[in-house]
Amino acid sequence: MIDAHCHLDEFENIPETIATAKQSGVTHLISCGTGMTSIQKTLELTEKYPEIYVAVGLGYSLRSRNLLATQKKLFKLLNHPRVAAIGECGLDYPLGITETDKNFQKDLFKMHVELAEKSNLPLVIHSRNAHEDISNIVKPNMPAQAHCFVGTLGQMHDCVTRGWYISFGGILTFKKSVDLREVAGSVPNDRLLIETDSPYLSPEPFRGQPNNPSNVRIVAEALAEIKQTSLSEIDALTTANTKSLFSKISI
Ligand SMILES: [Zn+2]
Repeated sequence: MIDAHCHLDEFENIPETIATAKQSGVTHLISCGTGMTSIQKTLELTEKYPEIYVAVGLGYSLRSRNLLATQKKLFKLLNHPRVAAIGECGLDYPLGITETDKNFQKDLFKMHVELAEKSNLPLVIHSRNAHEDISNIVKPNMPAQAHCFVGTLGQMHDCVTRGWYISFGGILTFKKSVDLREVAGSVPNDRLLIETDSPYLSPEPFRGQPNNPSNVRIVAEALAEIKQTSLSEIDALTTANTKSLFSKISI
């Protein structure tokens, strides 16, 4: 089983977190950077732990006036053998966000999209109320993970048409996520990914507590129920899909 999106650098006890994940059957983890320090820390972890792959990105909230210099710094990291993706990145539009804030986010996101184009690495995309703007910025035929997907059926179909993978996390298990479970049921099997976004977004019954990568199994179990199939089938297909999108992951 692969946790296709987590933030290992944010854990206090990283060795224990990884050991527990391995005991639960997690074979690989894609740990996403959210800033320069976080990326460096995650890259250092790859030296100790062969199961970690890294997504290089700065998130969506950084306000930089010199994105070109930032892009150059990030570009230098992309040759690292365990860098498997660009992200996380994307757009996050809370209620009442200003146009200025949206524009800062769009510029930062465009910088990440350019990096993905130059490096041929897939994008790890965060989207909150921003599907349209994201669709306009990402060029056709760019591979991507729609991370922690919470969109509509129409948005899911749009992502799939673009060749993206739909990645579900703990929100799928929340009682109120009735519509999301219906959307998940319609995702083609060859586009499904599972993730935790840990230490955030714990699935039920651990909602509100810190999350960890071993809980990816709970997401897989929820998907198995939705798809009316076995846990081992979900494990097999999501593992294959993750390796297909993040092609740097070795078996
Ligand atoms: Zn994340």
